[in-house]
Amino acid sequence: MTEREIPYKIYLEEKDMPKQWYNVRADMENKPAPLLNAETREAMTAKELGVVFCDELVKQELNDTDRYIDIPQEIRDFYKMYRPAPLVRAYCLEEKLQTPAKIYYKFEGNNTSGSHKLNSAIAQAYYAKRQGLKGVTTETGAGQWGTALSMACSYLGLDCKVFMVKCSYEQKPFRREVMRTYGAGVTPSPSMDTEVGKKILAEHPGTKGSLGCAISEAVETALKSEGYRYVLGSVLNQVLLHQSIIGMETKLAMDQYGIKPDMIIGCAGGGSNLGGLISPFMGEKLRGEADYQFVAVEPASCPSLTRGVYAYDFCDTGMVCPMAKMYTLGSGFIPSPNHAGGLRYHGMNPVLSQLYHDGYMEACAVEQTAVFEAAEQFARVEGILPAPESSHAIKVAIDEAMRCKETGEEKTILFGLTGTGYFDMYAYEKFHNGKMEDYIPSDEDLQKGLAGIPKM
Ligand SMILES: *Cc1c(COP(=O)(O)O)cnc(C)c1O
Repeated sequence: MTEREIPYKIYLEEKDMPKQWYNVRADMENKPAPLLNAETREAMTAKELGVVFCDELVKQELNDTDRYIDIPQEIRDFYKMYRPAPLVRAYCLEEKLQTPAKIYYKFEGNNTSGSHKLNSAIAQAYYAKRQGLKGVTTETGAGQWGTALSMACSYLGLDCKVFMVKCSYEQKPFRREVMRTYGAGVTPSPSMDTEVGKKILAEHPGTKGSLGCAISEAVETALKSEGYRYVLGSVLNQVLLHQSIIGMETKLAMDQYGIKPDMIIGCAGGGSNLGGLISPFMGEKLRGEADYQFVAVEPASCPSLTRGVYAYDFCDTGMVCPMAKMYTLGSGFIPSPNHAGGLRYHGMNPVLSQLYHDGYMEACAVEQTAVFEAAEQFARVEGILPAPESSHAIKVAIDEAMRCKETGEEKTILFGLTGTGYFDMYAYEKFHNGKMEDYIPSDEDLQKGLAGIPKM
């Protein structure tokens, strides 16, 4: 390897941290379709959304026109605890792979919650606090979002009620205890605390729950509790907006050294980290100023973009949330067990869905054993123990770097390393013991979920 002109880690200075989020919707010719009221099938008004969500967040959700939105000083102060996040040149991985490709990753795991989710958690908690609310409710699957929200709420002195999918509650006691350390109330879902929970328990005694069910319980609790609103860690356009801080910092750091990525890769669950990472680059592409290749990576077990349909669908099993037009496998789709809990959602953010539909972005699906192989390969040379979700992006970045080795292309690859995997050692254990399986749903399996998508 020749002289390293570009540092191993590019850290922006604190004073250079972005003061605004970038709203990619402003530059989209085809705007994402509006959320619909599930009963009337009319576009949700700000007033209707305000019953469930915080007022300022509703404004952000509906804002398709303002290109930049100021990040309040209080949120920036919190960001400074763990941001700017480093942009790392993966010199060690490049050397190991013997590839002419240049690989960069933006690392979002440098905080206790261990992922990018804190970027939106603090924003959502801040607006709830400023509205004078007492607290917020939410759901968590694997636990990353619940942890991030607990941290943000304790910092601001807000109450936080988390409905945690029962199987995770039992299997991931450490995540649960981190949330309780930050003062959150954690209830296994389904629970007897809500009507939805009681109904589900009566119909399916002994069920270990699902994300869709926990969402319904959290929404019901917010509606029943004076001074509470419901918050969500992905899928919504406001979350993608908050996550644009990832892409803006990355772009600033790259511009400082005159680096232009050819290919930008991110894992896609609900779409927020990928949407945030690509936002400013996508803006340039939409305005015709530059071109990039964008790749969304999803698990083969939950392939919303690659095998789903683009349609209005319910966001939760209880159908209490508004409907969104998105790539979806159907709200009744139950993904087979996969260790990347953060990627097990049936739908995809409406902005990303529209961009994908219009051909601005590509998508691919990868199997989990291959993902863990890539995770291990990465950990052994780069040091960081990656989250299974993030490792989906690593897998595709390595594949591309190996392809470059064959062709001799000196391509610049950028991927989002969304978090660390310390709470996923059970999954790593299965992988090491050769007990990990690759579940890929058959067309018939998918048909069941797709059949439940409402006819509009
Ligand atoms: C939640 C999570 C994801 C997926 O969520 P998106 O909204 O698609 O970004 C990815 N990586 C990690 C570490 C997560 O916790």
